[in-house]
Amino acid sequence: MTQYDFDLFVIGGGSGGVRCARIAASHGARVGVAEERFWGGTCVNVGCVPKKLMVMAAEYGSSAADARGFGWNGEQGTHDWARLIANKDAEINRLNSIYVKLLNGAGAQVFEARASFIDAHTLQVGDQVVTAERIVIASGGRPQMPRFPGAEHCIVSDAAFYLPERPQRVTMLGGGYIALEFATIFNGLGSHVDVVMRQPLPLRGFDEDIRTATAEALTSSGMVLHPGVTPLRVEANGAASRVFLSDGSVLDTDLVFAAIGRVANTEGLGLAAAGVATGKSGAVMVDSQHRTSVGHIYAIGDVTDRLNLTPVAIAEGHSLADRLFGPGPRHWDLHRVATAVFCSPPVATVGLTEAEAAERGTVDVYISRFTPMRHTLTGRARKTLMKLIVDQASQIVVGAHMLGEDAAEIMQGLSIAINCGATKQDFDRTVGIHPTAAEEFVTLRTRTRVTEGPKQQDVAEMAGMGAAEAGLGG
Ligand code: FAD
Ligand code: NDP
Repeated sequence: MTQYDFDLFVIGGGSGGVRCARIAASHGARVGVAEERFWGGTCVNVGCVPKKLMVMAAEYGSSAADARGFGWNGEQGTHDWARLIANKDAEINRLNSIYVKLLNGAGAQVFEARASFIDAHTLQVGDQVVTAERIVIASGGRPQMPRFPGAEHCIVSDAAFYLPERPQRVTMLGGGYIALEFATIFNGLGSHVDVVMRQPLPLRGFDEDIRTATAEALTSSGMVLHPGVTPLRVEANGAASRVFLSDGSVLDTDLVFAAIGRVANTEGLGLAAAGVATGKSGAVMVDSQHRTSVGHIYAIGDVTDRLNLTPVAIAEGHSLADRLFGPGPRHWDLHRVATAVFCSPPVATVGLTEAEAAERGTVDVYISRFTPMRHTLTGRARKTLMKLIVDQASQIVVGAHMLGEDAAEIMQGLSIAINCGATKQDFDRTVGIHPTAAEEFVTLRTRTRVTEGPKQQDVAEMAGMGAAEAGLGG
């Protein structure tokens, strides 16, 4: 029988890779894990964690003004960007070392080096060659660079965490997660922010009412939105930049920040040498058991470009390690994963949008829009929007959406109920906590509207079309 150096080798020490390596090692497997850049990966170093700390910093920007309505007389001080970055870096360094300790503690062998395939069981890891019975690709993703002329004058999110100083004017390209979160950070810390997005509203794929409310919230916080336009080129203008847009307008700015999506990190991995197939934009294709086109090679997390969220990468890594070396896979429901955009106020959502739900059947829609209690005294024009989508036939709550303070914290709890298949009656018989914003989700009594699903005739036609396309029709 072939003897391999390792039972399992993991390429990438990010959220998914660290979890997979640690759990596999704790089950007694001989595990190696390689990380070329930073332990903890995107989330810990240039993603969720530093981003959230910076969003928190931005939130303080309005605290002195808000406190005035509550009787406080303090004035807003100035913000020290360098101190924020230094404090953030210290916390990230602390987390880095925890990740390495966890791996060592579990008995995994760590390699601070780049790994790439020589063949399907052999890897080049720095200057060493190692063999492994099974290999997990957990190499994550990286920001997409724009392709228009002058793209070299743009930064992407990795660099935004290390800017030497805060720019006075920022032009954000994109209307997705990263664009809105960093627009919030810079706006909250005092920069002028333009957001250039090619859709009429931000956050394509989110519920329409939430998208509309988000656009209103961003505008009311002082950002300038440029919907329905694309950036054509960027020119340097001394130390500043000029951004030329498809509607003929030109934006003068100090920083052009491209947040136009991410691509899988598979370049130079030697996937062809191992026979691993990739799909759109180089992402590794996997089946429901995380197997690639090569039976003993697996892929988890962002490198598969499906649901690019940290808890998903962690769940995939953990369940794969349990399946290969432990008692069997731990089950996570990856169909109704809650997610949040940490703009200000934040957006959070779980389950189907109204439009998605109505494609499956008629839905009852419940919406509440109100001024949060805090802002009755601050006077800040801030609204909260809450929305429940209920399948009319079964009365199961199939979607919950919120824009408002603490939305992410509230949605985490709601997502348990929704994953358990709670009905609207279950929500109604739950007694709220008063006074909170969250109680609104259990006191939504008056239906806002009914959105009709496909007519029976349409369903029959669709079914007929499907059969015909599949070559099953008469
Ligand atoms: P990664 O964490 O990217 O880890 C991959 C690792 O592999 C990296 O450390 C990389 O250096 C290493 N690597 C790559 N190639 C090699 C190689 N050949 N050899 C050795 N090492 C290699 N998600 C959330 O859920 N919530 C958030 O709030 C959130 N905020 C985000 C904010 C930003 C700005 C960004 C960019 C992302 C954010 N995400 C968030 C997404 C989240 O960070 C990712 O989904 C998550 O990190 C994916 O984990 P992963 O293990 O698949 O990949
Ligand atoms: P998103 O997919 O969220 O958004 C990309 C944005 O860029 C969209 O508005 C898209 O427009 C626009 N865009 C794409 N290509 C172009 C182009 N060529 N020219 C102009 N605009 C373009 O990607 P992000 O980069 O914001 O984030 C990547 C992923 O990271 C997210 O999808 C998410 O999975 C994860 N993430 C999660 C966070 C969280 O959980 N809070 C935070 C940050 C990232 P259009 O809609 O028209 O395609």
